[in-house]
Amino acid sequence: MSARSWGRWPDARAAREVPLFDRSQALPPPIPAPGSSLLAHGLGRSYGDVALNEGGTLLLTRGLDRYIALDPATGVLRAEAGVSLDEILQLIVPQGWFLAVTPGTRFITLGGAVANDVHGKNHHRAGSFGCHVRAFELLRSSGERLLCSPTEHTDWYAATIGGLGLTGLITWVEIQLVRIASPFVSVHNQRFAGLEGYWALDAELGARHGHSVAWVDCLHGGRGIYTAGDFVDAPPDLPPRRPSTVRVPLTPPVSLVNGLSLRAFNAAYYHRPLHTQELQHYEPFFYPLDAMLDWNRIYGRRGFFQYQCVLPRAAMRDAAAELFRRIGRSGQGSFLAVFKTFGDRRSPGLLSFPRPGATLALDFPNRGAATLKLFTELDAVVSACGGALYPAKDARMSPELFLSGYPRLHEFTRYIDPAFSSSFWRRAGPPCSAARSAGATRADTVRADSSTTSASLANASPAGAPPADAPRGHAPSAAA
Ligand SMILES: Cc1cc2nc3c(=O)[nH]c(=O)nc-3n(C[C@H](O)[C@H](O)[C@H](O)COP(=O)(O)OP(=O)(O)OC[C@H]3O[C@@H](n4cnc5c(N)ncnc54)[C@H](O)[C@@H]3O)c2cc1C
Repeated sequence: MSARSWGRWPDARAAREVPLFDRSQALPPPIPAPGSSLLAHGLGRSYGDVALNEGGTLLLTRGLDRYIALDPATGVLRAEAGVSLDEILQLIVPQGWFLAVTPGTRFITLGGAVANDVHGKNHHRAGSFGCHVRAFELLRSSGERLLCSPTEHTDWYAATIGGLGLTGLITWVEIQLVRIASPFVSVHNQRFAGLEGYWALDAELGARHGHSVAWVDCLHGGRGIYTAGDFVDAPPDLPPRRPSTVRVPLTPPVSLVNGLSLRAFNAAYYHRPLHTQELQHYEPFFYPLDAMLDWNRIYGRRGFFQYQCVLPRAAMRDAAAELFRRIGRSGQGSFLAVFKTFGDRRSPGLLSFPRPGATLALDFPNRGAATLKLFTELDAVVSACGGALYPAKDARMSPELFLSGYPRLHEFTRYIDPAFSSSFWRRAGPPCSAARSAGATRADTVRADSSTTSASLANASPAGAPPADAPRGHAPSAAA
């Protein structure tokens, strides 16, 4: 069994992985074991356990990789759910089209983009990915195939966008693309000395530009660099682009990100010579991290967490300042810290994460109890201001925080496929939910019942070995 999540924690292996190749085929039945369940798994770019199904079956969707239709006049693309955004870009950019919304990596599948209703640097203008989904097919374990769109099976459409893979298997997706004048983006960069500077720049540049985001120095009061950009016509004499990627070749025993390296990197990055105005190819602008393959290995064998929250608009300034104070005091965090203001466009999903306000996303090496203690402190700020955490990035939030951040959670549970479940859902879903008890393994139960989960994390052993105090529910067996 090989499917892992991007944060490399938890190490919750499925008992069976079933590669899918044919969208017209029926779903395999779950393993005939009490509580066993199914879950789709795309490119595994979710950080925690939302794409994991410990002891159950993972349906590997990458083999659903066919384009179905592209109308070059209208920019309507229909493709199977395992096609990656990277593959789509290779097809559409030469024809003058781009994705209406893209996250910070292009190595995700269409199905994963829908199931987490991902967002990008243009949320303040374009909303989330789901806002541009024209239709998809949902295959239920009953064999029923539902054509879902803003006008057909609209309730299933709303439940499946941002539905964390729990409503069934998305077999294909149809999206609306947007026109671009060239693959190049005119980029404006500006330093700010603290959060007040961010808000001022955001009011000015965010309003003027289609894409905007800020890098923040999490150890230094939220100083950072604001970046905004728009696709432009490229000058004809531009030299050809030579894309280059490097790969982190191995996983070091311990994280290379620590207090010392973080302080040094952040200071150097903040003070680096800055091009206030520059022309960038879309790849380094939207996907700077994709230039380093397997970069998640730098956090060592214990893996890492991403903490991503959204703070509602009315409270975002005070709450963000408090989060940065607490993170700075702890001395933890990483150079991968992103701050962005979401806009008003409503996400179509019942469980969509984006909403009006500000979002902070920050990586943390897994330092066990110390990291979890900090998260508990950050949770208190998020919860007090009515904010939410992003399931796509989460490996440890409590059911209470999940419920308070997603007021339509109980409505959503009606749409869960009885054969589908995930490690995330069994850990953080409402206790009464069928999918939570349906796929529960003994290890899930231990985690769910431990309100802290910190015991197992504090003792977390290197990836590949179970935490000392968390018995495994199912020994992995051979792939089907
Ligand atoms: C470097 C990096 C940057 C990122 N930046 C952003 C960002 O800016 N914005 C953002 O929103 N996210 C961001 N993410 C998170 C990422 O976009 C999401 O986690 C995305 O959903 C991953 O897609 P995937 O194909 O890897 O799916 P997986 O991680 O494998 O699965 C994600 C979810 O989708 C479900 N799923 C997958 N395929 C199907 C299917 N065919 N049918 C039904 N359900 C399915 C799974 O069950 C699971 O619940 C980033 C991740 C990384 C590693």
